[in-house]
Amino acid sequence: MFHQTKEFPVVWIQGSGCSGCSISVLNALSPSITNTLIDEIVPGNHINLLFHSTLMAGAGESSIAMISRAEKEHESRYFLVIEGSLSIGEKGIFAMVGESNGQHLSMAGMTAKLASRALAVIALGSCSSFGGIPRCKPNPTGITSIAAFLESQRINTPLINIPGCPPHPDWFLGTLAELIVHGLPGPQELDELKRPKLFFSDLIHEHCQRRAEFDAGKFAEKFGEEGCLFKLGCKGPYTYGDCPTRKWNSGVNWCVENGAPCIGCIEPEFPDKFSPMYEKITQDRIKFFQIGGGAR
Ligand code: SF4
Ligand code: SF4
Repeated sequence: MFHQTKEFPVVWIQGSGCSGCSISVLNALSPSITNTLIDEIVPGNHINLLFHSTLMAGAGESSIAMISRAEKEHESRYFLVIEGSLSIGEKGIFAMVGESNGQHLSMAGMTAKLASRALAVIALGSCSSFGGIPRCKPNPTGITSIAAFLESQRINTPLINIPGCPPHPDWFLGTLAELIVHGLPGPQELDELKRPKLFFSDLIHEHCQRRAEFDAGKFAEKFGEEGCLFKLGCKGPYTYGDCPTRKWNSGVNWCVENGAPCIGCIEPEFPDKFSPMYEKITQDRIKFFQIGGGAR
């Protein structure tokens, strides 16, 4: 029986970052990135990735022209994915999307232009969601979060934050599939940081395989030892995400299971307030987070 496939245009731009979010999504297992881009992401629905400077074959003016095409032909129908931080220092000169007619196209200018005409904006990764590593003190390039930037520009397009350094591929593809199947999320489906509750509801600490050792007061004093990693700097008690149950690298393992403390890479406090990464969090910072199990 004939059925018409619905197409969802996606424009993906990159600011200050390392492209790690793209690499993470490219490693998706089910659906694979090939399935996602070539087949139907969910039955009857196909993603049309119109612009992604790392993945697309085109270059130069012809690839930049795809952005204008998306704006004109798919106004209010495309998803704008923003990877990397948004720099507004020195009129945005530190982050460029490309050039057109010899003019620099700043990330800030392009974000404002594209976000205002998008169906929804997805801030992918901690850099775009909250500023991430490029926003570290003293923040020399004037990094701001996408949420703060959109507010400053009075752009009301719905925003979803999918943090992570990098984000898990399931968090991105699952969110995209949810958007396509169920439409824009209601306020009850996002937390106060605009993260999908589907993935960011529970503390890492609640489902950690080393939790029994934490409760029994058995702490590792050195890397490689048995025991809870709290004294080695684990931020699991302050971090909301499903890493212990979803696991990484196609479900093989995750940070704590592999002997590395959680560094809280999905929280807005990362990395400045979670540093030093591998030292037990101090009393003054515990007050800051109001720790005691599920502070937020
Ligand atoms: S290793 Fe970290 S997340 Fe796991 S129980 Fe200890 S403090 Fe909590
Ligand atoms: S366990 Fe912590 S550091 Fe590791 S990916 Fe999850 S949130 Fe990030």
